[in-house]
Amino acid sequence: MEERLRLLYTLQMLDANLFRLEESKGDLPGIVRQMREDVAQLEASIQQKRDLITANVAARNKADEDLIEFTEKLERYKSQQYQVRNNKEYDAITKEIEFAVESIASLQGQFQSFEGQMSTAKLDIDALTLKLDEKKEELAEKEVDLAKVSEATEEEETKLRGAREKVAAQIAREDIAQYDRIRNARGIVSVAVIWKNRCCSGCKNQIPPQHLIEIRKNDALYMCQHCGRMIVSDQLATTVDVDA
Ligand SMILES: [Zn+2]
Repeated sequence: MEERLRLLYTLQMLDANLFRLEESKGDLPGIVRQMREDVAQLEASIQQKRDLITANVAARNKADEDLIEFTEKLERYKSQQYQVRNNKEYDAITKEIEFAVESIASLQGQFQSFEGQMSTAKLDIDALTLKLDEKKEELAEKEVDLAKVSEATEEEETKLRGAREKVAAQIAREDIAQYDRIRNARGIVSVAVIWKNRCCSGCKNQIPPQHLIEIRKNDALYMCQHCGRMIVSDQLATTVDVDA
């Protein structure tokens, strides 16, 4: 039993060290992740503007074609206006001319509007591209920093992971399951230790004196009544040294 408790506590110590190692990387992993998202966001915005330009080019070209068509029609109507034989024909051709003139004005307006939207989009793309380049540069720097930090901790991390694997292999499946369950619920500490001679190191609550005696026998797996963590004796904890 004592060995079972010692293994669980060893696993806890190794996990705590791995956690500290991860923490030593500071905010860098989070910062890099955020910056990658920002870069992707900017790229998407630029693409959106490009799509807008493509759509506007098509719409502008269509307006341009229609404009040419109506201009030709207008020329034709104007020359026909001189050849009318009666008022009715004159009125009809006048109506056509008015319609063509209105259409041309409207198409010219559309043409301008498409052109305007395109030049705005182009300016936006320029500004976004500038921002994107800056962000990419910053990201590259942070990635280098992160790589350096990771490299510095890699050796220790590999060592700890190797040790963890060995220890975990010696622990019963149900103990591991329970360990993981507590860890998921309580964070990094699954296996607490008697703290200040009478408390649970996990939640700092007092352990009943009778339980303290039992725990110190190292012959059963005890759970803290307050936080549900496993508790091992302070004496047993001193026999565990994961740095060795
Ligand atoms: Zn507790």
